[in-house]
Amino acid sequence: MTLPTTLERSSRGLWFALASLVVIGAVAIVAFSSAQLPGIPVGLGISIPPSGLIALGGSGGTGALPGSGGANGSGLAAGSPSGSVAPGGSGSPGDSGSPEGSVAPDGSPGPGGSPAPGTCADPPAGVLPAAIAFHGSRAAKVVALTFDDGWDAPTTLKILAILRRDHVNATFFPVGHAIELQPTAWRSVAKAGFPIGDHTYDHKDLTTLCFAAQVTELTRQQSIVTRTLGVSELPVMRPPFGTQNGLTRVAASVAGDVQLVLWDVDTQDWEGRSAAQIASRALAGGNGSIILMHTFAPNTAIALPRIIAGYRARGYRFVTIGQLLGVPGAVPFPPKAGTAG
Ligand SMILES: [Zn+2]
Repeated sequence: MTLPTTLERSSRGLWFALASLVVIGAVAIVAFSSAQLPGIPVGLGISIPPSGLIALGGSGGTGALPGSGGANGSGLAAGSPSGSVAPGGSGSPGDSGSPEGSVAPDGSPGPGGSPAPGTCADPPAGVLPAAIAFHGSRAAKVVALTFDDGWDAPTTLKILAILRRDHVNATFFPVGHAIELQPTAWRSVAKAGFPIGDHTYDHKDLTTLCFAAQVTELTRQQSIVTRTLGVSELPVMRPPFGTQNGLTRVAASVAGDVQLVLWDVDTQDWEGRSAAQIASRALAGGNGSIILMHTFAPNTAIALPRIIAGYRARGYRFVTIGQLLGVPGAVPFPPKAGTAG
């Protein structure tokens, strides 16, 4: 019975060849994955630093610090568990509790949100990633209030009125789409001289987008600020949810932003907390703190006078993100000698 034997041998040979291909494929996948580890060049002309080693300075020595320190290392108010992402609360987009730990280690685009094939260019070679700041210098008694998103015009205007009345500097990070929906309110903010930073066009998680799409999210918001509000944007960006990766930092540079601005104090106002809770969390900051709040949370406007009074009672001044990090831009209320600022 030589025929079956020959067939059997042929079959064995075929299976051996297939198994060899599977093994070779697995080895290739492992080798490729290793090349994506943090700190190893990813073949895009950039080297992704390990998460936590992301401060590049470039802000006049005013305090970009490693993520390994930040809120948890400073004894300041910590946000929600590391890496958490805001669920969006009551239909409004929020930001994550703690930016530390939310740094995606690689620059690979995730599923969904990527443009059609052929429209997603790689980052240009030789572009330095923008620096990241979680807070400013710990040497001065200053804090920076920041207000994100901008969907709710009445609350935005209430916050604006309190800041003007109490002569308090602050920085706004509206989403481009929110400016389109609420142009009158945002023109009021811009006209009052408050600096406006980039918070993307529609609050997507940038780590789900390829490089070119991340750049577009940033530049689209910038053009709306220029066209609709008639002001130059402060060249800083805050990634929605605090999530970003190596591509985000290069995208920010390409879009003209010199800093990614995160925070070390999260009021969690996007979660529907009470005014007392928001004030308590906001007042847990210290020298150089960046305090995260939102313009869509009505309780934020209620808490704001308490936050202002609390910091002033402790001898703090309020500065813009530009003042805190050494980025030139709008400063509505320059500090005067002998005033609280
Ligand atoms: Zn946001």
